[in-house]
Amino acid sequence: MQNANDAYQDIRDAVRDLCDQYPAEYFRKLDMERAYPDAFVDALTKAGWMAALIPQEYGGSGLGLTEASVIMEEINRCGGNSGACHGQMYNMGTLLRHGSEEQKRLYLPKIAAGELRLQSMGVTEPSTGTDTTKIKTTAVKQGDRYVVNGQKVWISRIQHSDLMILLARTTPLAEVKKKSEGMSIFIVDLRDAIGKGLTVRPIPNMVNHETNELFFDNLEIPAENLIGEEGKGFRYILDGLNAERTLIAAECIGDGYWFIDKVSAYVKERIVFGRPIGQNQGVQFPIAESYIEVEAANLMRYEACRLYDAHQPCGAQANMAKYLAAKASWEAANACIQFHGGFGFACEYDVERKFRETRLYQVAPISTNLILSHVAEHVLGLPRSF
Ligand SMILES: Cc1cc2nc3c(=O)[nH]c(=O)nc-3n(C[C@H](O)[C@H](O)[C@H](O)COP(=O)(O)OP(=O)(O)OC[C@H]3O[C@@H](n4cnc5c(N)ncnc54)[C@H](O)[C@@H]3O)c2cc1C
Repeated sequence: MQNANDAYQDIRDAVRDLCDQYPAEYFRKLDMERAYPDAFVDALTKAGWMAALIPQEYGGSGLGLTEASVIMEEINRCGGNSGACHGQMYNMGTLLRHGSEEQKRLYLPKIAAGELRLQSMGVTEPSTGTDTTKIKTTAVKQGDRYVVNGQKVWISRIQHSDLMILLARTTPLAEVKKKSEGMSIFIVDLRDAIGKGLTVRPIPNMVNHETNELFFDNLEIPAENLIGEEGKGFRYILDGLNAERTLIAAECIGDGYWFIDKVSAYVKERIVFGRPIGQNQGVQFPIAESYIEVEAANLMRYEACRLYDAHQPCGAQANMAKYLAAKASWEAANACIQFHGGFGFACEYDVERKFRETRLYQVAPISTNLILSHVAEHVLGLPRSF
């Protein structure tokens, strides 16, 4: 099956060649062992794909979010799960757009060379959930350091990252005019922090996704690790969140195509009542419907990428792309498992694994309801509900 937009065929072909060495069996085995795809991520890093967004002057390839999204899409489309490594792509935008020249020179060449990994971002907290401006983790300046106290939850890839972008409150909520003010973002060097003020507790979960609770107890961060201006972190992190939503839209599109290819091949072969099950319109229509939805979501994904790469506001498009793509991949997943019958539940078909993996994107990194709320309030101008 061809993509509606194949202007990136060279990237697709190169990523597919690499992914061919890490086929679905590789990810299936890791899923069972709940292990991290070290060899795959190393290979991606060595081939330069993890440095796609880093400008050439810092040792990367200087590509845009559009190309980064194609890389992530292809990984999922080949049967893998880019959730193991997509963090570096969306965190990069935060550092690139808001980091100082010193920070870029310090980190980017090492990230490009694969010596440092920037895979983690700490935003979500257990007692505030999606209501991000109420976060309780604080960073208090004391001389040349910030001292961090608080708690985060669902912070992914900590055990496979050297650096984390952290959102913390630097001015109490009661002292700011707007609730989105008074938060700041920092680069935390996890190699210095773990065991010295930062405790990490893994969360076993439904997918093979390495994610954790974090406990900060007087963690000291050098003041120079503040990104941009103190108090403006929420605005900075929104850029990163838009990149994250757009990349995850692309991953869902990769999943959607994978499910559609897989089920289309199966229903042509599976004979029941003396004919291929795919000859029944009751089987064809849900597959055709999910294909139409994946294709439509793909257009919004490219629009979100285009706006992001042009440094234009893209919040609405990034959210809508993520909404459409996550919904489309979930419909494709349902059709795929349904028409595999009992075999859809057998691990060796990979359908149940991909089904679990794509389900996550109805909830994370932002739930479907919160996207609807964003569009209602910020695009349609309906009254604020919270
Ligand atoms: C596997 C995994 C990995 C993750 N990785 C990271 C990470 O690396 N870094 C990070 O910071 N976070 C991470 N997250 C957190 C993720 O972003 C949140 O789980 C997600 O944003 C939802 O927040 P919550 O779980 O607190 O849900 P809540 O805010 O408690 O909401 C629960 C549900 O209630 C509904 N809801 C809530 N408020 C409203 C409303 N006002 N109107 C209508 N419906 C509403 C929504 O349906 C929502 O799904 C991860 C989560 C998972 C599961």
